[in-house]
Amino acid sequence: MRRRHLLVLPALSLPTALRAQPARPRVVASFSILGDMVRQIAGDRVELRVIAGPDADAHGFQPRPSDAEALRGAALVVRNGLGFDAWMDRMLRAAGHRGQVVTATEGIAPRPMAAHGHAHGGAERRGQAPRQVPDPHAWQDLRLGIGYVRTIAAALAAADPAGATAHAAAAERYAARLASLDGWVRAEVATVPEARRKVVTSHDAFGYFGAAYGIAFLAPQGVSTEAEPSAAQVASLIRQVRAEGITAVFMENMGNPATLRRLAQEAGVRVRGQLFADALSGPDGPAPDYEAMFRHNVALLVPAMRGDAP
Ligand SMILES: [Zn+2]
Repeated sequence: MRRRHLLVLPALSLPTALRAQPARPRVVASFSILGDMVRQIAGDRVELRVIAGPDADAHGFQPRPSDAEALRGAALVVRNGLGFDAWMDRMLRAAGHRGQVVTATEGIAPRPMAAHGHAHGGAERRGQAPRQVPDPHAWQDLRLGIGYVRTIAAALAAADPAGATAHAAAAERYAARLASLDGWVRAEVATVPEARRKVVTSHDAFGYFGAAYGIAFLAPQGVSTEAEPSAAQVASLIRQVRAEGITAVFMENMGNPATLRRLAQEAGVRVRGQLFADALSGPDGPAPDYEAMFRHNVALLVPAMRGDAP
């Protein structure tokens, strides 16, 4: 993160420097990954507030009154859309927000996903085929992430015209880093024999990642950050893990790990660590920003799929 260097100015000029500091536009991001994208593009030019922070589950997030306070005077609100952060719409209405709002998935053709489990998908009645809803986890494909960056940068330029040139330049540098990271992910996955590109994880957040990088992600139906799967669903996945020799079983940085632990134990495989799906880690954790999240996840996934010794 860039820092302003007020402290190194000679003491006498400090009050002048403070008076000369224009008020920075406030930008509010609904969850940690969007917050990092805003920070990478805008740096300290904007005052950033993130509502669902590191390790916070944005599914079914319950905003507090202090969260609504963050919207006061905000020049721009950045949300994911596709039903992921619908609570933000309610907050905006309640706060009477008059600034700009940008939906980071704007223009992205969503993948369908079964409505089971995810709080934003609605309730499934047992025995009925799950309804299809748009999968909101589009940031898990880096090429779509580049789309997020361009959409957010255009909104930042509109909300902060004085910074428009800087935002556009920073966004292009960031997009180039993400494109190169995308190439690295593909090269890493290519080291895994195709038949072994299968992963079990706790909630179905990796649909876009799987489609982009050619990996099948399996989650026991109904397993999400909020819902529990049935015993029959877990038993069926255990049979699949055994039959197909799947060695990549992972937890995530949110949700209940008990089902996954039990599944791994009964299937005779090790849980190979913790993936970051819907939220970043704190600054001292393994996934403090969007790029670090991919490096962390891929560094765990690839050896686990190959079946390397842990
Ligand atoms: Zn999710």
